[in-house]
Amino acid sequence: MALIVQKFGGSSVADAEKIRRVAGIIADTYCEGHDVVVVLSAQGDTTDELLEKAAEINPKPSKRELDMLLSTGEQISISLCAMALEKMGLPVISLTGWQIGLRTNSNYGNARIKEVGAERIRRELDQRKIVIVAGFQGINKFDDITTLGRGGSDTTAVSIAASMHADLCQIYTDVEGVFTADPRKVPGAKKLDEITFDEMLELASLGAQVLHNRSVEMAKRYGVNLEVLSSYVRKPGTIVKEVTSMEDTKISGVAKDSDIARIALLGLADEPGTAFRIFRVLAKSGINVDIILQSIGRDETKDISFTVAKPDMEAAVSALNENKEVLGFNDIKVSDKVCKISIVGAGMIKSPGIAARMFEALYDANVNIHMISTSEIKVSVLIDEEHADLAMQSIHRKFFGI
Ligand code: ADP
Ligand code: ASP
Ligand code: MG
Repeated sequence: MALIVQKFGGSSVADAEKIRRVAGIIADTYCEGHDVVVVLSAQGDTTDELLEKAAEINPKPSKRELDMLLSTGEQISISLCAMALEKMGLPVISLTGWQIGLRTNSNYGNARIKEVGAERIRRELDQRKIVIVAGFQGINKFDDITTLGRGGSDTTAVSIAASMHADLCQIYTDVEGVFTADPRKVPGAKKLDEITFDEMLELASLGAQVLHNRSVEMAKRYGVNLEVLSSYVRKPGTIVKEVTSMEDTKISGVAKDSDIARIALLGLADEPGTAFRIFRVLAKSGINVDIILQSIGRDETKDISFTVAKPDMEAAVSALNENKEVLGFNDIKVSDKVCKISIVGAGMIKSPGIAARMFEALYDANVNIHMISTSEIKVSVLIDEEHADLAMQSIHRKFFGI
């Protein structure tokens, strides 16, 4: 008998029929004799709809009240799913983040988990109950409700699996596993049987929303056995683990991140301290910077461009403009019609020419590159958003032949 944590995403519990299907998977696992802890997301587009409801009342609500509202979506799905299992005659209990003692910091809207006091879950399992937990939510030191950021239910599931030393954490979703690219954008994308934590972490951080990136980080840190699989088709999915037999595969996937904006500062002094002053201003405003590009100095001036997350764009521009005198730029140019396409692969370190092949694919598709950044296991390029899908498909074809 094993302890299995199963997480089902929003599309898997979108309506009554889907909830019954999910209940069937849970019931089968339970009837095999396992202890089952289930984590659910809000149904379908509920979280987006709640955000719209909030905006109708107040376009700038406090983050605390927004979390109070957003956390309700998950509470609906856990109670409905518990009712479906009750109807099947199975012992079940649904619990909120607060009831299981999932403690977070106070960063409303993007809170980090500090601990999962698993005693309540353990007590219920000891009575042979199926435990259904609301994903995405916790409580802070003031006993106020917090949420973990979009897609955060994956992280709830992994944190419960880690704190309870579960044998397996299964993330059920609307695709059959992790693919070489988003199968909805690249029709030839192939399902991977295995992927390493590091590759999955890069893919998730670079825009593949199939797993919340913090869930992968946590699974790696605590050695959680993680599987991504379909809630519609009953077959093995993708195993995410430390080392894979496929590790030498040069490229494991292509990812797209459209949630990005580029800011360029023109006519800066070509002297020591320029970059320091710019990025200090941004850091003080709490803005994360991703790719940075500096032009060669000419006529004692240079340009610096960089990318930030789209929601930070306005704050970054106003912080820079407020310090225009000190920073000494002539002009500031901003574009949010850009996106970042990345290739990820642990085998990249040992194989020269991977970046060249990626650039060739972009050339084949006649797509211009604005910026490039690399690390040991990834290459990212910034391109115009309108070419994103074409670029993804061309790069995918170059490396995977389809
Ligand atoms: P859930 O509601 O189950 O949490 P998500 O929408 O968060 O589901 O994640 C699943 C989606 O992630 C898929 O429908 C797919 O379009 C997208 N996706 C993006 N990149 C990938 C990838 N490399 N492999 C699989 N799915 C991906
Ligand atoms: N319901 C939340 C969201 O839509 C959390 C999740 O689905 O993981 O982002
Ligand atoms: Mg998700």
